[in-house]
Amino acid sequence: MARGWLVLRSTRFLVLGIFLCSIIIIYLSSCSLQDGQTMTPTKSNISCQKDHDNKSWGRHKLAVLVPFRDRLEELMEFAPHIHSYLNYQKIRHDIYVINQIDEYRFNRASLINVGFLESNTDCDYIAMHDVDLVPVTDGLPYTYPVEGPVHVASPELHPIYHYKKFVGGILLFNRFHFIKINGMSNRYWGWGREDDELYVRIKKAGLNVTRPQGITTGYKTFKHIHNKIKRPRDNKRYFNQTVLTSRLDKETGVTNVRYKVDSKTKIVIEGAPVTFINVQLECNTVLTPWCLKPEDQIELRRKLRLPMPKVK
Ligand code: UDP
Ligand code: MN
Repeated sequence: MARGWLVLRSTRFLVLGIFLCSIIIIYLSSCSLQDGQTMTPTKSNISCQKDHDNKSWGRHKLAVLVPFRDRLEELMEFAPHIHSYLNYQKIRHDIYVINQIDEYRFNRASLINVGFLESNTDCDYIAMHDVDLVPVTDGLPYTYPVEGPVHVASPELHPIYHYKKFVGGILLFNRFHFIKINGMSNRYWGWGREDDELYVRIKKAGLNVTRPQGITTGYKTFKHIHNKIKRPRDNKRYFNQTVLTSRLDKETGVTNVRYKVDSKTKIVIEGAPVTFINVQLECNTVLTPWCLKPEDQIELRRKLRLPMPKVK
């Protein structure tokens, strides 16, 4: 009887031991995908996410800066995906969502400037990253950009923008170079052109844009989660917006972006840690009256007893 009990007890320990070992093996193998494999984030590689700041991956650390307003569905897909993607490449990173909460038109460039200033300086380089552009091909260069900006969403790979000077979508900068060009212009309220002005800044500073090499998946390299009807682009031009946004802006940039941080919250989206920053941008309605649509402008100016600008 006593011997039988002993055998039963050691069998139980054996079964328990095998069970625990298999869990450890499954966990470890889910964190070591083979090189060259195509990256598709799954629940299993999401389980490696505590590794996102693994110091053995190198001394550089990336701040992923996502300019944001009203794109929750896209963010729910983007955050876990980019987190797994960067972990797989062993890129140390933090994700920042810079959420514009004021009443003005969306200003992607100013939000990137704010993200640069508000992100932790242990991140020595940034990726300005559209929330709706999800890399699906493995091997895109998210490593530290030594020589100059690296345009990950290059015109040969971006699903819809194919002109040579395009630098939108996803662009990497080290901190020194971003400061050297004084970041991005703060004049671009509404959709478009801020990235074209950025290209001119880069060139004026004597920097060269480099792009991914050897990627063979062409326009299928990224998934663009953009429903044109649900997410219409705010591309109207008001007042003298067209004139002032088609030339190089030597006056505004990361050094003089005006804003208030309303809150900073750490959230986790399917295992992906994200710092969510609510930001109120400030607009000088005399210098850039197009930060408000004319219909909103009239009310604001009445309230503030400001003269009405000429509507073009
Ligand atoms: N964006 C946003 N809310 C807006 C407009 C733009 O969050 O109302 C951000 C978002 O990160 C988006 C990026 O700005 O991916 C670029 O805008 P959009 O996708 O409209 O430009 P596209 O590159 O598709 O022309
Ligand atoms: Mn888009």
